[in-house]
Amino acid sequence: MSAGDDTTPAARLRLLQNEFLQPGRGRHHERAAKASTPSLPIRVAIYDHIQAAVAEATEHTRAVAPHAGPRPKQAEKTYEWMVEQTAHLDPDRQRNRDALIYRQGLEHAIVMGESKIICRHPCPGCGTWGLFWRRDAAVCVNRYCADDDGVARTWTLQQIAEDHIARKESAAQRAT
Ligand SMILES: [Zn+2]
Repeated sequence: MSAGDDTTPAARLRLLQNEFLQPGRGRHHERAAKASTPSLPIRVAIYDHIQAAVAEATEHTRAVAPHAGPRPKQAEKTYEWMVEQTAHLDPDRQRNRDALIYRQGLEHAIVMGESKIICRHPCPGCGTWGLFWRRDAAVCVNRYCADDDGVARTWTLQQIAEDHIARKESAAQRAT
């Protein structure tokens, strides 16, 4: 992941902080200055979201790596720290960690109003491209994926993240 990539979980966290929570502090300074500052309830919700994400990532890290050093002060550095502190763990645990980070990246995108990010993932059940985000779950539009009563299958962000990490891994294995 390159430093200029705005779609990594860390970059999204930084965007949330600099553009949504405290507009004007980010590097898109001029754009943010022209835009209206989000209302206080929205900023409180974003603040809570950031705090919860960092707390979850920190707790997860400390649970699997009790000797982990102190967490960086900057929220956006949390994922980097998390990977460093758990790099020695077995592949299963590293996979869990990667899924958590990826899932948080999806959550950040949805908080920013970019729920279309879900469309860029195949359905974990049928593998087709037709997921969309509805309130709090990803829904598959493939009618062959629906249950016997015709009810569309739904997926949590955690399930989508786990599927994404598994696919990435098998793609990497095929490439070697
Ligand atoms: Zn499906």
